[in-house]
Amino acid sequence: MAMNPRASLELIAENCTSCMLCIRACPVWCLELDAHLEVDESSGRRRSSLALDRFSIDYGTCMMCGLCVDICPFEALEWSSELPPTQFEWRSE
Ligand code: SF4
Ligand code: SF4
Repeated sequence: MAMNPRASLELIAENCTSCMLCIRACPVWCLELDAHLEVDESSGRRRSSLALDRFSIDYGTCMMCGLCVDICPFEALEWSSELPPTQFEWRSE
């Protein structure tokens, strides 16, 4: 049986900057994420960035349109041939 190369979405969590572009691009609001602000002052200058805590995909609603994959500037979302669960959730440890 032929595999569907676009059967589900894969999150590359280490690439995700929590920029929210995919969340805003999704036409059916099936993506959610939680993040927290991290502040680094080790270089003597105050630098802040968002750290991803949770990312979820509701496959009951997802239309597999690919807008989220296309808009991500950091290649943190990819297509996968794995059959999707009803709901995908990634959490930081
Ligand atoms: S593939 Fe489309 S519908 Fe599914 S999460 Fe991405 S933008 Fe939303
Ligand atoms: S667009 Fe990419 S980097 Fe931005 S929140 Fe979505 S997956 Fe993460």
